[in-house]
Amino acid sequence: MVEIAIRIPVIDLGTCTDCEGCLEVSPSVFQRNWVTGLIEVAELDSYPEKEVEEAIKYCPADSIQWEDR
Ligand code: SF4
Repeated sequence: MVEIAIRIPVIDLGTCTDCEGCLEVSPSVFQRNWVTGLIEVAELDSYPEKEVEEAIKYCPADSIQWEDR
């Protein structure tokens, strides 16, 4: 079986300022975990590249980046 790596966005919570910008730009990917209160990435089979790129550009703290899985 061939495994296909998918790219997933990850948030560096150490630098995230909780500005909610990514929630506005890409609400299907970024969400608030109401238990922890932190911003998190939704569990999706694949991530919409354009939306995530927008969020990466928008993030004032440069806290979002792609990671290969
Ligand atoms: S845009 Fe960046 S700093 Fe703002 S909540 Fe999202 S990850 Fe955090």
